[in-house]
Amino acid sequence: MTRPILVTSALPYANGQPHFGHLVGAYLPADVFVRYHRMIGSDVLYICGTDDHGVANTLAAEKEGVPYREFVQRGWDVWNDVCGQLGISFDNFSQTCREVPHYALAQEFFLRCKKSGHIVRRDIEQLYSPKTNRFLADRYVVGECYVCGHDDARGDECPKCGSWLEANRLKNPRSRTDPEDKLELRAAWQFELDLKPFSEDPLVKPWLTEFRKGLKTNVSKFVFEKMIEGEGLESRPITRDLPWGVPVPNVDLDGQPIEDVDGKVLYVWFDAPIGYISSTMEWAERENKDWRRYWIRKDGEDGARLVHFIGKDNIAFHCIVFPSMLAWQQVDGDYSLTGPGKGEQYVLPENVPANEFFNLEGKKFSKSDQWTIDIGPFIEKYGVDRTRYYLIAAMPETSDSDFIWRDFKARNDKLANAFGNFASRILKFVAKHFDNRVPALGSETLDRVTNEVRTRTEAMARAIEEYRFRNALDEFLGLAEDGNQFLQDTQPWQLRKTDLAACGAALHQALQYLPALSALAQPFVPGLAASLRTQLNLAPRGAGPLLPSERLAEGHALGEASVLVAKIPDEVIASELEALRGTPED
Ligand SMILES: [Zn+2]
Repeated sequence: MTRPILVTSALPYANGQPHFGHLVGAYLPADVFVRYHRMIGSDVLYICGTDDHGVANTLAAEKEGVPYREFVQRGWDVWNDVCGQLGISFDNFSQTCREVPHYALAQEFFLRCKKSGHIVRRDIEQLYSPKTNRFLADRYVVGECYVCGHDDARGDECPKCGSWLEANRLKNPRSRTDPEDKLELRAAWQFELDLKPFSEDPLVKPWLTEFRKGLKTNVSKFVFEKMIEGEGLESRPITRDLPWGVPVPNVDLDGQPIEDVDGKVLYVWFDAPIGYISSTMEWAERENKDWRRYWIRKDGEDGARLVHFIGKDNIAFHCIVFPSMLAWQQVDGDYSLTGPGKGEQYVLPENVPANEFFNLEGKKFSKSDQWTIDIGPFIEKYGVDRTRYYLIAAMPETSDSDFIWRDFKARNDKLANAFGNFASRILKFVAKHFDNRVPALGSETLDRVTNEVRTRTEAMARAIEEYRFRNALDEFLGLAEDGNQFLQDTQPWQLRKTDLAACGAALHQALQYLPALSALAQPFVPGLAASLRTQLNLAPRGAGPLLPSERLAEGHALGEASVLVAKIPDEVIASELEALRGTPED
């Protein structure tokens, strides 16, 4: 029996304004992976939701004077719309502010980690705001990064060097909401998750060895060279004094009170990834399915393949922190709990394919600087398939990359030529000279096309399994180029005048590229794949193996040919650049 596959995309902050950088980072590659696996008939589930408890949300909601719950609901609507427009095909898109089932599960995670001895209570000094009479959670604080010196580091993390930070160690700390507020260090306490034993933990260690082998170099370097073997792991606070979040439970698993936790909530990085599980539970409840099939494995069994797609700012959480939380749910004793029971444990991730950053024409996307592209209008204008095609082709898989308007046109036009024109040239020709039916193969064979389709299909499958989506896309386009080369070599246009049977035989072969192309296109550009199938007069493709490829039989009546991909005129790109830069191009 093949293993189920559980795919997650990073939970977006409800307050975040989605831009193409987010979408190519964690959503589009996951969607390609999931669509591919659905196509070949895998048992695959795709889960996401918004991350609602971040301090970024409370900050923004307070600034606007909107209740937290209303604020994050708006954020969910925005993300749900944008992902829908781009065809991101989640099986469930939840919210971490939903008390059922998320709050109870997050509290259980806390209690189990505590019972298994991984949570410590620590007295700390915390920045206090005399003006507002409260301790400031770390993102309410900005200051100078004590690792790289960046002047505008957040209290939890430096946006420049990516280091985890402690707010009370920032140089020149100031309140983000009120720079005049003279912050003071005062005594406080929080619960912390002690990550020090992580890499030597008996459950974690064997997993970590395997996990490392499969990671992309950029991810592996960060996790192992920078974090585990470099800086080393410490304990991290998992509670905060905030009015918005999952309340810290006040009774432990054994019914003993946990003192003094009024006003404390689980810190967002602890509760957010649990959202992957609660979103799965929500899906299972709705669909009458079993969420445990994807999250729980029995001792000695492999369990599901868990794959987290994320942006590079989330690597540490998904490769170290969340796995530690999953592993540390083991507790002895008879408790009535939701998670793994005796002889069971949560699955740990098989891979965490993280992408790098995606910029716009050499600069960061920025709504406030108007250096951006509005996703909705863009997709309306250029269509979802061309948008997906370009974003996948330009994806920052191994290093940062850019949205470049001229590159968008160049790649689109290449798709139009190699793929779109290839299909429509053949189909129009067959309509005109062969009554729109697949001509006879005669004494020719399909060896060449069969071999090329097999080579490209296998290479695409390998690239997708290795999270090399740009290469996978190249194989799709490469098969279209193979088809063009076939036409070059056999010249059916010439043959028609001299040998109609030979012309028909060449077209019979050339036509066989098209069902294969519709399959290879499906994970990337599902709309184009479907249009091509309509033009071939084929029913939607059922799930199943890609090889052997479908064959169009002699005499099969084809559909009506039309333009699959239109080219983009130069003037359109010039006016887009002018709108972006605010001036005409030189
Ligand atoms: Zn820094």
